Amino acid sequence: MATGLMKTIGAGELRSDHVGSVVTLAGWIARRRDHGGVIFVDIRDSSGIVQVVLNPEDAPASEETLHGLRLEYCVQIEGSVRPRPEGTVNPDLPSGAIEVVASTITVLSPADALPFQLDDRTDVDESLRLQYRYLDMRRSRMAENLKARSQAIRAMRRVMDDQGFLEVETPTLIASTPEGARDMLVPSRLREGNFYALPQSPQLFKQLLMIGGVERYYQVAKCYRDEDFRADRQIEFTQLDFEGSFWGQDDVLAVLEEVAARVVADLRDAPIELPIQRLTYADAMARFGSDKPDLRFDMELIDISAVFASTEFKAFAGVLGEGGSVQAINAGNLALARSGLDAQVARAQELGAKGLVWMVVEDDGGLRSPVAKFLSDSEKAALIDACDGQPGDTLLIIADRTKTVRNILGQLRLDHGQPEGHEELAFAFVTDFPVFDVDDDGNLSPAHHPFTAPADIDEMVTSPETAISRSYDLVLNGSELGSGSVRIHDPIIQAKVFEVMNISSEVAEERFGWFLEALRYGTPPHAGFAIGIDRFVSILRGEPNIREIIPFPKTQTGADPLTGSPSKVEEVQLQELGIQIRPEVLEAWALREAEQQD
Ligand code: ASP
Repeated sequence: MATGLMKTIGAGELRSDHVGSVVTLAGWIARRRDHGGVIFVDIRDSSGIVQVVLNPEDAPASEETLHGLRLEYCVQIEGSVRPRPEGTVNPDLPSGAIEVVASTITVLSPADALPFQLDDRTDVDESLRLQYRYLDMRRSRMAENLKARSQAIRAMRRVMDDQGFLEVETPTLIASTPEGARDMLVPSRLREGNFYALPQSPQLFKQLLMIGGVERYYQVAKCYRDEDFRADRQIEFTQLDFEGSFWGQDDVLAVLEEVAARVVADLRDAPIELPIQRLTYADAMARFGSDKPDLRFDMELIDISAVFASTEFKAFAGVLGEGGSVQAINAGNLALARSGLDAQVARAQELGAKGLVWMVVEDDGGLRSPVAKFLSDSEKAALIDACDGQPGDTLLIIADRTKTVRNILGQLRLDHGQPEGHEELAFAFVTDFPVFDVDDDGNLSPAHHPFTAPADIDEMVTSPETAISRSYDLVLNGSELGSGSVRIHDPIIQAKVFEVMNISSEVAEERFGWFLEALRYGTPPHAGFAIGIDRFVSILRGEPNIREIIPFPKTQTGADPLTGSPSKVEEVQLQELGIQIRPEVLEAWALREAEQQD
């Protein structure tokens, strides 16, 4: 590390090669052991840890200073490096073969008693960790995660630089861009009553950059979406956003392969296998019941509707008669007792199924199941054959509308196939998404965003429910890392998409007139993508949620326990903005404050 003026080397950089040299260290006291006279301290800085021996006989400092040293004091030490005495070598520590014998120690800054232990063994409540994030990041978990995040971004920038992309910043106070989430709004003082939106992504600006002739753009961009929190969602998150002109899907996927390969090479020892496998959305849904399939394991959905085409079993016959399907997963040898099998039914119901049929393949090739008696021998044999059932295998079967069947079996598949640990990486590109999501009432909303090119404009107009778009996702271990698309570069098609989405031409003109106009000045065909950096790094680090990868994240309720945001503001600030808090909100505040005081 570059050391600066106050130290000559990083604590964690010292090795046997340095034995005999005189060094100056600066860092924090991570551990302290008083061995009756001689005091051992571990000094930690951003490079790691080294053991320092403070022997009062060498008079490195006054008795008072030495005995007053506490954990997390910030200190500077001069001393000489020597091998550790035999039997005290610590093979777990990179600097564990040596120690530094201090000749002086200076306290640069004392530390108050700590709110929690900074060792990695102590389990600390997350809101306390977030309140003291600056202490939490002295612990190795956060320190390592921050390094990994920086390495990942560095690797991404290298790919972008090597391929001639221009890094361009786009504004964060903008007019709202529809990406499917709620906007975060910022009131304007100069134009009272008007609002900026924080960008859900730089989507329209990067398209303007293409119109502006930039051809290859990228940015490590902050994006804001006012969504409910989940383990892998934050209202504020970071994307590697890029776009290219005269590009189609394959150009984008080639860049993504390079990005994935370099990031993984820097964060993991094993290289990834290229090319990344591709499957269409239709395939992913049919085989895995998900548009972000976890491909670390097979356990594909098996459509067994044909087996029951003329079944007497009413539950299946009814569903098939209404155009639904009967499908199964072979969950393998679960060895469940009856109560465990019943729990599978409860789980499926919790996921929205009306019911679930379980069947266990018996040693003699028969089937054990509450519904076995309703099935003919030939149906049983065909079922076992279709599911490749081996003795002991449990088959989980759902009969319903195909969309529901896939959704539920897709989730049951994750329950039973989820591999332990996070070592294996299964990347996939999912392509050819539908243009629109259709809800149960038949309403259409763009599956990606409304600037995505439909594969066939006529198809989009005549049968929007089934029309395919030129969009694609990158998936890793069952998580969506990001999405992108080939864009619409023709203003007439863009206007048509708005029309199909029920955005009237007046509204489209009012909200996006400036963009539709820009499209009319010789727009190059273009395509792009955005990767969620927080999620990518969290998966590579095996972290269960993206908060572990974000230096200063918000809690599940959108609060920052460290700085107290979101917070009230002064009345005069509100006045300047022309904003008045509604009386019922003021009442609710007063009530909450009174409750907190009780
Ligand atoms: N703007 C899109 C998003 O944030 C990504 C893209 O289409 O490039 O999901």
